[in-house]
Amino acid sequence: MKKFGVFFVSFLIFCSGASLFAGGSKEETPLVGIAMPTQSSQRWIEDGRNMRDILQDRGYRVDLQYAEDSIDAQVAQLENMVTRGADVLVIASIDGEALTNVLDLAADNDIPVIAYDRLIRNSPHVSYYATFDNYLVGVLQGQYIVDSLDLESGAGPFNIEIFAGSPDDNNATFFYNGAMDQIQPYIDNGQLVVRSGQTAFNRVATLRWDGATAQIRMDNILAAHYTDARVDAILSPYDGISIGVLSSLKGVGYGSGSRPMPVVTGQDAELPSIKSILAGEQTSTIFKDTRVLARRAADMVDSVLQGTTAEVNDTTTYDNGVIVVPSYLEHPVSVDASNWEEVLVGSGYYTREQVLN
Ligand code: BGC
Repeated sequence: MKKFGVFFVSFLIFCSGASLFAGGSKEETPLVGIAMPTQSSQRWIEDGRNMRDILQDRGYRVDLQYAEDSIDAQVAQLENMVTRGADVLVIASIDGEALTNVLDLAADNDIPVIAYDRLIRNSPHVSYYATFDNYLVGVLQGQYIVDSLDLESGAGPFNIEIFAGSPDDNNATFFYNGAMDQIQPYIDNGQLVVRSGQTAFNRVATLRWDGATAQIRMDNILAAHYTDARVDAILSPYDGISIGVLSSLKGVGYGSGSRPMPVVTGQDAELPSIKSILAGEQTSTIFKDTRVLARRAADMVDSVLQGTTAEVNDTTTYDNGVIVVPSYLEHPVSVDASNWEEVLVGSGYYTREQVLN
C-alpha cells in the first residue's frame, strides 16, 4: 500500500519535473536491482536466473547485473540501479567491505538493501541477509575429511593441505572456522600433518576464489613438500578451487596408476565438480539449493516493499561491524558419489542426463 502511495507521489513529482527521487520511477511496477558477482561460476548464474524468474513471476521488474569480479564495476552497476529508480537492491557482493558509500547513496534514496549469500559489511543500511548456514558448510567439509580418513578411530598420520576462500568475502572465514574446528584437534594430536605448515587463514586464503591461483599454490606446495610424500586430503572450500587443485595433482601423477587422488572437498555442487566426483577425482561438495535461497530473498523483497517484517531465523550471528543483520540461514547438504542422485536429481536441481552427459 505504502509503496504504491510512494509511486503515485513519485509519478506526480516526476511529471512536474522536480523529482525528489533519483530516477523518479514513473512505472507502477516495482523495480528490483540484483547485483551478482560473476558469471565465471555456475552457481551465480543459477542464483541470478532463479531470482529473476521468481521476482518476475511475482510481478516485479528486474535489473540483473553481473560484475565479473570487478569491485568498481559492481559499485557502478549499483549506482546505476539507484539512478534508474530501483525500489530495492539485492546484492551478492564481491568485496563485502567496498559498498559502504553506494549503500549510503541507496539509503539517501530510500532504497532498502538485502544482502544475498554474502554479508555486506560496514554499513547500517542492510535490511536483511539471506544466506546458508555458512559455519555449517565448513563443518560439513571438515567432517567429511574426518570421516573419510576414519580419524575418529585413531587412523593416521595423514598429510593434509588447506585452502580457504577470498579474504574479502565474509563467508570465507565462516567456512574456514567451521572446517578447522573439525580438523584442528587431529592436527594437534598428530593424526593430520600439514607438511607445508600453512594453516593460518591469511596464509591459505585464495583471492576472488580463483581456481588458477589455487592451482599455482598447490603446484608450489607439491614441489616444495611432497616430492617424497603423498598428500592424503585437501580441504577445499569451493568447487572452482577444487578443480584447480585437482589439475595440479593430476600434473604430478595423482589419479593414475598406484597414486589415487587424495580426499578433495568442495562447495556449490557445480556440474563440472559433480562429473569430477563421478570420475573418481573430487570427493565431495556441498549442495546449496540456489532456488531455495532465491525464494528466501524474494520473500524479503516482498516484505521490505510491503513494509512488513520478513521471517528470519538468526539475529545474533551476522554482525557487519555496524549492525547485526537479521538473517535467514538455509540448510547446506553434503554430496558425494553415494548420494548425488538422490539429492541433486531427486530435488530436480539437475537431470540425470545433465550429470552423466
Ligand atoms: C559462496 C559460496 C561460493 C563462493 C565462491 C561464497 O560467498 O557462499 O557458495 O562457493 O562464494 O563463489
